[in-house]
Amino acid sequence: MRQALGRLFQGTASPFPALRRAHEMMSLGEYAQAAMTFEQLACAAEAPNGLRAPHLHLQAGRARLLNNQPAAALPHFKRGLELLIENGRYNQVYRAGQRIVQELKLRGLEREAREIAALVGTSIPAIADMPTERGPDVAAVLLPTHCESCGGPVRATEVEWLDSRTAECPYCGSPVRAL
Ligand SMILES: [Zn+2]
Repeated sequence: MRQALGRLFQGTASPFPALRRAHEMMSLGEYAQAAMTFEQLACAAEAPNGLRAPHLHLQAGRARLLNNQPAAALPHFKRGLELLIENGRYNQVYRAGQRIVQELKLRGLEREAREIAALVGTSIPAIADMPTERGPDVAAVLLPTHCESCGGPVRATEVEWLDSRTAECPYCGSPVRAL
């Protein structure tokens, strides 16, 4: 059944062609191209159009970082995290923030890592005040690694859950169903 679905989706035009291309360029190591596309999509997504601005900014930052442009990466990381904070997505702020801090430290970017850690640390409420995490025990639910609609990487710890078996793609908003 899953294979049949896979075949069905091959050859089907993606509803998000630019976003899919950006994810593909990212996985091919074409970071400068990926960064430009994520930046355009992120800016456009701040006006409501279905795409999700916060993770597009985070991915634009990641592409800039992988392209050895940390100064261009930082504003995107900050904007993405700020948008998640505005939306009260503290769990995602925490998880994505931790991952970005690790990525910056791995590259020896200690000052930048401290900036992001400070932004996350001062923005999220004390753990006791955090809303109870919605969604299932993510360890028990296996999500596909990539969104079928846009090809973006999906991390179970950094998604919003629509129900116990369905998450929302952080880039295009399409439902991503557990395997
Ligand atoms: Zn998607």
